[in-house]
Amino acid sequence: RYSTAAALEEPIKPPVNVEYTKLLINGQFVDAASGKTFPTLDPRTGEVIAHVAEGDAEDVNRAVAAARKAFDEGPWPKLTAYDRQRILLRFADLVEKHNDEIAALETWDNGKPYEQAAKIEVPMFVRLMRYYAGWADKIHGMTVPADGPYHVQTLHEPIGVAGQIIPWNFPLLMYAWKVGPALACGNTVVLKTAEQTPLSALYVTKLLHEAGLPSGVLNVVSGFGPTAGAALCSHMDVDKLAFTGSTETGKIILELSARSNLKPVTLELGGKSPFIVCEDADVDNAVELAHFALFFNQGQCCCAGSRTYVHERVYDEFVEKATARALKRSVGDPFRQEIEQGPQVDSEQFEKILRYIRAGVDSGATLETGGDRLGEKGYYIKPTVFSNVQDDMPIAKEEIFGPVQTILKYKDLDEVIRRANSTRYGLAAGVFTQNLDTANTLMRALRAGTVWINCFDTFDAAIPFGGYKMSGQGREKGEYSLKNYLQVKAVVTPLKNP
Ligand code: ADP
Repeated sequence: RYSTAAALEEPIKPPVNVEYTKLLINGQFVDAASGKTFPTLDPRTGEVIAHVAEGDAEDVNRAVAAARKAFDEGPWPKLTAYDRQRILLRFADLVEKHNDEIAALETWDNGKPYEQAAKIEVPMFVRLMRYYAGWADKIHGMTVPADGPYHVQTLHEPIGVAGQIIPWNFPLLMYAWKVGPALACGNTVVLKTAEQTPLSALYVTKLLHEAGLPSGVLNVVSGFGPTAGAALCSHMDVDKLAFTGSTETGKIILELSARSNLKPVTLELGGKSPFIVCEDADVDNAVELAHFALFFNQGQCCCAGSRTYVHERVYDEFVEKATARALKRSVGDPFRQEIEQGPQVDSEQFEKILRYIRAGVDSGATLETGGDRLGEKGYYIKPTVFSNVQDDMPIAKEEIFGPVQTILKYKDLDEVIRRANSTRYGLAAGVFTQNLDTANTLMRALRAGTVWINCFDTFDAAIPFGGYKMSGQGREKGEYSLKNYLQVKAVVTPLKNP
């Protein structure tokens, strides 16, 4: 049963005040050069939380100049690796200390359940920062055997000024995935946050300066994609770009890089990830995991298990139980305890999801439950389940990014492998089976950057994450992420007396 009442009740007052709304450039909070601001809204009500300085090209220029100076003249890349490590560790301690305020800001700006922000995401942020801090003094070059009398070595050096553009679904975690490795490797950064969720990044970056970060090393510009974001991508003094967001915007980013200075780009883009329930599955457990795989974070995950393929032998039972589970999902004010689902992030996403739901009905899928907004106010959507979904329906092909589960039926393993892979995306896949041979077959056959077997959304700091095909380029997290922020210099010296 939806907590309809909860969605309609007066919103709970968030246990935090908004302190930081300006741009953070060269260690100082400053107004936008234009003096402009934009409102950031509470997704529970659509009301204004705060007016935030709106950065555009001129502010990006200022931020890049500060980052450039901090890189070229120091002190950042010239500090010892141990010094950089200690700043990141102190930062992690400060974030840990302010766990609850930071979580409250994240929930207020994004709409995600407070319990999730406070107990999972902020602690994960801290864990990620400690993880990357650990790498700072463990970056080694090599000595290389060459033909002839030469001593050859490689230096692994920071690339320079990194431009980083992040989305709104996990503002803090996306910050950690990007800022962590960039700073650990000795780069300086200009970060462009998502216009829907600018607040938490400003708060934590203030703490990062308290932890001892020198001015100019990390600059945060709030603002919009086509203005601030595009200016960062086109900038001739930015040496590297990292982006998480939609595949459509990813293409623009790559193009802007190519047209300016060919800065290398890492991309983490959209997905339409299969979650495959095999014929031997324990249906109750499969239902629960598939539900989590899709509905977690209001369905706003790039790796959401958004095509639930269920073997025909267990299909009917699965659909019935998945529907019952969705009906039980508690939706309401994300500041309330025991709430599993808050509102979608903004009216644009909300409308887009409702359009997809209508498209699902129009294309002949069976709407088992949900299908509509919840309450009159804010961006709440009823947990929605479609059965009898066909591969060519828009709800089975396109990224909905909302609480809409699409259940498809299959007969055998070869068929489901072919169907699971027939997408331009390749971010993640889920497999649910007790059969080792089935798990091994699927794990190797699925064309995706992550395959979760009998689990989903297991995100550890050390596990690499990224996409095959149009889901992205490069890997974040883990040791692999360091490659994005280092370049290799080969140094060759002749040996006089080999
Ligand atoms: P979504 O549709 O989920 O908002 P986007 O890919 O549009 O995803 O947004 C992700 C991030 O990319 C945000 O920070 C946004 O401001 C930024 N962005 C959007 N358009 C552009 C663009 N043309 N150039 C650079 N950044 C952009």
